[in-house]
Amino acid sequence: MTETLLITGARVLTPDAEDAPFRDLLIEGGRIKAVLPPGEGPANVPHYDASDRLVIPGLVNGHTHGHGGLAKGAGDKWDLALLLANAPWVSGGRGLEEKKLSTQLAAVEMLKKGCTAAYDLPFEFPVPTVEGLDAMADAYAEVGLRALIAPMVADLTFFQATPGLTEALPPELRAKVEAMKAAPGEQTIAAIDAAARHWRHGAKGITLGCAPTIPLHGTDEFLKACRKLAEQHGMKMQTHVAEARYQAAGGEIRYGTTLLDHMDKLGLVGPWFSVAHGTWLTPEDLETMAKRGAGLSHNAGANMRLASGIAPARAAIRAGVTVGIGTDGSSSSDNQNMFESMRLAAFASRLWEEATDEDWLGTAETVRLATQGSAKLMGIEAGSIEAGKLADLVFLDLGHINWAPLNNAANQLVWTEDGSAVAEVMVNGQWKLRGGKVLGVDEKALAARANAAAEKLLAINAEARAFCDTLSPHVACYCRSLAGGFRRVRRLLPAH
Ligand SMILES: [Zn+2]
Repeated sequence: MTETLLITGARVLTPDAEDAPFRDLLIEGGRIKAVLPPGEGPANVPHYDASDRLVIPGLVNGHTHGHGGLAKGAGDKWDLALLLANAPWVSGGRGLEEKKLSTQLAAVEMLKKGCTAAYDLPFEFPVPTVEGLDAMADAYAEVGLRALIAPMVADLTFFQATPGLTEALPPELRAKVEAMKAAPGEQTIAAIDAAARHWRHGAKGITLGCAPTIPLHGTDEFLKACRKLAEQHGMKMQTHVAEARYQAAGGEIRYGTTLLDHMDKLGLVGPWFSVAHGTWLTPEDLETMAKRGAGLSHNAGANMRLASGIAPARAAIRAGVTVGIGTDGSSSSDNQNMFESMRLAAFASRLWEEATDEDWLGTAETVRLATQGSAKLMGIEAGSIEAGKLADLVFLDLGHINWAPLNNAANQLVWTEDGSAVAEVMVNGQWKLRGGKVLGVDEKALAARANAAAEKLLAINAEARAFCDTLSPHVACYCRSLAGGFRRVRRLLPAH
């Protein structure tokens, strides 16, 4: 990691993302050593000619699920409740090989689309395993991304978690869902603890976190145990909070307060913590998050895909919450394209009723959220091209149709670019993608393995899928009526 390289001839995005002047970049030891006016770099180091390139910081995915890699395109008209009800077949039946493969698929897609780091919440049934988490970390390391792998865990099933749902089911279905059980909390905590004790991926930029998946899906004891464990190991935490309106309604029934407020009372909300989605957070929730130093991953694409609503990103920024941008997993987005996530986040901000242009997310601001914002959620020194930052860089081909002509870098990054102009990617000062190809990965062989795995999983999960099909209309009907019970009290936009 001591190699030195001088990148010349490129346009380089400024840290505020407002401009892209010609600059030379001196890379040393995996970091950006200096950002220099053209021609001012040392002559006695290897040069790399990046003429016709726009160099941007690698995009950082604030929220995804590696296990979604094998599930892209698995469904159409499902909302979050239906996705959770169908999880047994969408994400089920995975062996160690499929766990690694799914993560590889997600990682390759992210890299090809200009993303260099991901906050990944993977799922293993019934409990996380050291081998499973190692396999996922190896998948990221082989592709070359940084990752924060925070296993997604719960000690209650979706049916136990959703107040009144089981009782609303016909008797024969009720009996079956009552027989479903999540793994005991102690077993899950012990599994993550074991993984943390044996973690061997830190040097490759891959760290371990802890993600109690959804507050309603954990008993208070379990949520507190997750916090205790994360504190012991200095781990980051992320939770899907108020992603869907039915959950916000369920929180009021179960806790008599908001989901975020309940988590705060249990001690989970702090600088180590970020909310995924936060679609139905209240202004009071945002104030609490700002006070505690907590963050938010804004995943507008998944929120639209699952009909969850629009997250109050502008209100969160105004409150002082660190906001990043994420794709969410491919079972709910169904791609890993951070350019698209930026575009949809900026679009969504324009859909608030009564919003004015001061409430909209601007393009340079959106780029900063998807780089510096998400990097802060992950706790990595990346997200801008400045001396001292990690050399995680994406090179866009300015000869590509997306950049003909180059009118404004930030506007085109958000409004025009779709990942297809990504020509080279460097992570930690090392090339991971050249000529549009991921180095060290045979993509054709990977695709063949993915298709074989999908066929195998279809057969393994057929019975679970048939049961979910029977269950789905009841879940949809109940959760939609439950959602109607939640009303935000205070306005999320200032009155004009
Ligand atoms: Zn998610």
